[in-house]
Amino acid sequence: MKQVGLLFFPAFDWSLGNSHPEREERLLYTRDQIFEEGIMDLPQYREYAPKLAREKDVARTHALLPGPEHILTPPHLVAAGGTLTLAKALMDGEIERGFAMVRPPGHHAMHTVYGNRGFCTINNVAVLANFLRHEYGLKRIAIVDTDVHHGDGTQDIFYHDPNVLYISIHQDGRTLYPGSGFTGERGGPRAWGQTLNIPLPPGTGDDGLLYVLEELVLPALAEFKPELVINSAGQDNHFTDPLANMQITAKGYGDLTRLLKPDLAVLEGGYAIETALPYVNLAILLAMAGMDYAGINEEYPAPVDTVPLSMIKPLVESVRTMKTKAPPLREWHTAERGVFYDTEYIWEKRSEKIKGCLDCPGLHLTYTGSGRAPGPRPEHLVIRLPFDTCPSCRLEAEKTLAEAQKRGSFRTVYWQDQAGDRFFYLDGQIREMKDG
Ligand SMILES: [Zn+2]
Ligand SMILES: [Zn+2]
Repeated sequence: MKQVGLLFFPAFDWSLGNSHPEREERLLYTRDQIFEEGIMDLPQYREYAPKLAREKDVARTHALLPGPEHILTPPHLVAAGGTLTLAKALMDGEIERGFAMVRPPGHHAMHTVYGNRGFCTINNVAVLANFLRHEYGLKRIAIVDTDVHHGDGTQDIFYHDPNVLYISIHQDGRTLYPGSGFTGERGGPRAWGQTLNIPLPPGTGDDGLLYVLEELVLPALAEFKPELVINSAGQDNHFTDPLANMQITAKGYGDLTRLLKPDLAVLEGGYAIETALPYVNLAILLAMAGMDYAGINEEYPAPVDTVPLSMIKPLVESVRTMKTKAPPLREWHTAERGVFYDTEYIWEKRSEKIKGCLDCPGLHLTYTGSGRAPGPRPEHLVIRLPFDTCPSCRLEAEKTLAEAQKRGSFRTVYWQDQAGDRFFYLDGQIREMKDG
């Protein structure tokens, strides 16, 4: 019998403050609940201890600015590393699926990282997806984000990537952090339709969530045909969550997991430490092993007053019939954006240039700077060569690097060669990111 892998990492040495909602107790109650239910004694489950992610595992996904030493901490490497530990177990055939219950969470961490935003610094699922592509040669991966908040970081990392399907179901951005994730955000010109956002009204219950799953998410997955499905599993849709307004129960999460059948699930948010996380995490684990979760006895009765399906159906219909065509492919596609790091009060200003290439996902140049007020000047250049970079994009990348070196106009140049698996920071010296 193939088992379900599970892994805990409560990160006792990582804290945003004792009264902060994202704290170590988030996993301690889950751990107690799982022991109490005797889950760990069942032959269906196998527990793993997390290993550290390597420098390169993070480098493949993020540009850490002004350099990794300012951003990375051991707990981040363990949380990201925990997801990789389960990935290896899965790919080696030891387990059939796995659930990494780790913190700190990751889905608000973007391609460029100056610090913590939305409680996230390193994007665990993005690091995981890119690890699977590099290490095991997977070509098509889907990430389904079921946290109540829009996973704007994951979306940002894969927005121009035609080989990663990113689907996010979340509470409408007009009513909740981070204020994005609208249906019109569908991916860059070369990855059009590979981002799918489904913003739900506050108060949506189990029936609404499952309707969306069956009508939009499962068909999108069937069409994309991923080799592997990752679930960004946020438990803050639960009706007792203090930060959001949804009405999902533990059973609803169990149903979602049973239908979605994720190969790997990675914990994101969820802040009702005693009343949601233990029950939701248990339901997910039981569903993953094909066991009955309907009997889970939650502390509070399930909500009755949820958004009616008649309000969800038109939304689903509007997403399904969206006819907007992909933007035309130009020589360069450009995007300007400001990013606010709410936890650390940092403003980032970013200009991106993505080559409109027909032979590969396209060279990706990011000019970025940070400050304490909106509108800082670009100080750093990130040169991202995507997986499967074509020769002409590589040539263009090398020219851009040589030019930047000659002019010395950037404080840091980060070379992020996903195709060649080479990553270095140039800031007066060359700092290669290593395998160790
Ligand atoms: Zn969340
Ligand atoms: Zn190209």
